[in-house]
Amino acid sequence: MRDGFGREITYLRLSVTDRCNLRCRYCMPEEGVSLQDHEEMLTQEEMLAAVEAAASLGITKLRITGGEPLVKKNILSICRQCAQVEGIREVCITTNGLLLPQLAEPLRDAGVSRVNISLDTLDGEKYRRITRVGELPQALAGIEAALKAGFEKVKLNVVLIGGFNDDEIPALAELTRRWPVDVRFIELMPMTEGFPQSAFIPCTAVLERLPELEPVSGRGGTARLYRLPGGMGNVGLISPVSDHFCASCDRLRLTADGKVKPCLHAETELSLKGLSREEMVQQLRAAILAKPRCHEPLSHAQPSRAGRDMNQIGG
Ligand code: SAM
Ligand code: SF4
Repeated sequence: MRDGFGREITYLRLSVTDRCNLRCRYCMPEEGVSLQDHEEMLTQEEMLAAVEAAASLGITKLRITGGEPLVKKNILSICRQCAQVEGIREVCITTNGLLLPQLAEPLRDAGVSRVNISLDTLDGEKYRRITRVGELPQALAGIEAALKAGFEKVKLNVVLIGGFNDDEIPALAELTRRWPVDVRFIELMPMTEGFPQSAFIPCTAVLERLPELEPVSGRGGTARLYRLPGGMGNVGLISPVSDHFCASCDRLRLTADGKVKPCLHAETELSLKGLSREEMVQQLRAAILAKPRCHEPLSHAQPSRAGRDMNQIGG
């Protein structure tokens, strides 16, 4: 279905939980999530009904996210059911990777074809600092497990943070020569407080640091693509702050408590909780028509109006 500005909406990001086994500083507060009542969250049946409703309106691609989707108890069954929904051609997952050693193969067998894994640094001490609690070797083991499981595509997501990991741009991009993965640098979005203005650096910093990057024709979704000579995968630049991609936005987000967000950075939310499948179709149609042309510009001084932390939206 097209929105009010002629954009075809084909992509749903489904957050299956707001809980997480990490506490990344840019994503959620140290004390963890504000615990909502179990009754407020979508049940697995409601998630499936929402995906079916979305597919009936032309959604073909589903990304399962969170919070950390792999801490959800019934994640394999959710993925398997979603992959079988008529009209859904692709089920992908975004994860911090910590549980992939146990779950990579079962996820692939459940119909997940692509995996994005978050990795902001290759330094164990820095990994602990940015995630507050994480162990880098566990994340690296998760990447190895995903590669071994034979997904169609494995991508690594790096949130670019000035003064934290900009000195690691070459080492992180170099991973495309070590493994058949894409490495995508993502500009830090001002969702939570606590980062100085200098932390917000544009993706062009990657091009300045790596002049040997060669442009690859076309775009990979929201990413501009480049390749290192001899690289097995692409280096992607995702610039939600310095060069937003609203004009080609094709997505909706559904939070774990059942709120459809027509735009990541707007307050508008439409609830699917407790609705029948037919009512969900109507509500999703309304959400598509409520998509704004563009969100307000983002900056350190003017943070996102999402009204929630990223773990509660589904990044
Ligand atoms: N837990 C999973 C993970 O970390 O990949 C999935 C959920 S996480 C919210 C999804 C993605 O959002 C991650 O790649 C994370 O780095 C990104 N993210 C979270 N907060 C962000 C922010 N303020 N700016 C840019 N990216 C952010
Ligand atoms: Fe958890 Fe992902 Fe947020 Fe990190 S970015 S706290 S891993 S949900």
